[in-house]
Parts: sequence; structure tokens; C-alpha cells
Amino acid sequence: MVTLYVGRLPERVRRRRARWAVASAVVVLCVVVVGLVHALGSAASPGPTPTAQGLSPELEQRFAAAQAAAAADGVPLTLTSGWRSAADQQRLVDDAVERYGSLEEARRWVLPPESSAHVQGTAIDVGPTESALWLGEHGLELGLCRTYANEIWHFELLADGATTCPELHPDSSSGW
Ligand SMILES: [Zn+2]
Repeated sequence: MVTLYVGRLPERVRRRRARWAVASAVVVLCVVVVGLVHALGSAASPGPTPTAQGLSPELEQRFAAAQAAAAADGVPLTLTSGWRSAADQQRLVDDAVERYGSLEEARRWVLPPESSAHVQGTAIDVGPTESALWLGEHGLELGLCRTYANEIWHFELLADGATTCPELHPDSSSGW
């Protein structure tokens, strides 16, 4: 019995080791695959370039149509800012206070997170300057309206059923 047992032991050990090796290889492979997916994911994730992500579907669609119409006119229309998180918006408020030296002046250029149309996904900033001016001229027929007299780049949706854009606000201070 003892001889038989001793004789079979190495085989059982070998099998156990083989199973362990296969299991280890599977674990290592999983780790490598997960690592690769993460690496590829971070390489493909959006950088600082603004995207239409987070915009209301209606605005995303109208901006795409505007971009196509602009391109047909030889005008390169790009998004310089779209949807912003509340934290991003608050950072812009803080930066503006620092840049302009007072909250009173900052209010003319940026709204707080709770009233910013960018946070709601219903506003876009476009560029470059010539292209923003182009959209200012053609926005109505594309369902996009400028909102503030001091921001040629900022556009919001033309309200449903409206045939004209609302009168421009002098700046964003009235939205505080
Ligand atoms: Zn804006």
C-alpha cells in the first residue's frame, strides 16, 4: 500500500502543479487583457478638445447641421465649449473672479452652475471668431440663437415654435 501510494504521489503532485500552472496563466492573461483595455481606453478617451457629449440631443443635432452648412460655405465651425459639469462651471466662476478682480465683473462673463445653460447641455460656444460671426448671421435658420451681446461665440436653442431669436441680453449678469 505504502509503495503504491508513494508511487502515485508524484503524478498527483504533477497534476496539481499542472492545474495550478494553467490557473496562474489564466489569471496572468486576465490581468494583461484588463491592463491593455485600460491603456487603450485612456488613450482613446477625450482630451481637452470639447465634444458634443452631454449636449441635449436637439442641440447636438442642430450644431451638426450648422457645422455642415458652414462647411458648405467654406467656414470651419468648431465647438470650443459644450456641456460642462457643475464643478467645471464653478471653476470658471472662480477663475473669472480672479481674472476680472471682482464678482461683479465676473458675472458679466460667466453664470453660476445652477443657472448656466452649459451645465444643462443647452448651450454651445463656437469658434473661431469668423465662424462664430457666420453662425450669428445664419443661426436663426439653423435653430440657434446668440444670447449675449458681449459673447459672439455663445449660442442656445431657438425656442420651439419661435420664429425669431429673443433680444440679446447685454451680458450674463442678469442670469445671476
Ligand atoms: Zn457659452
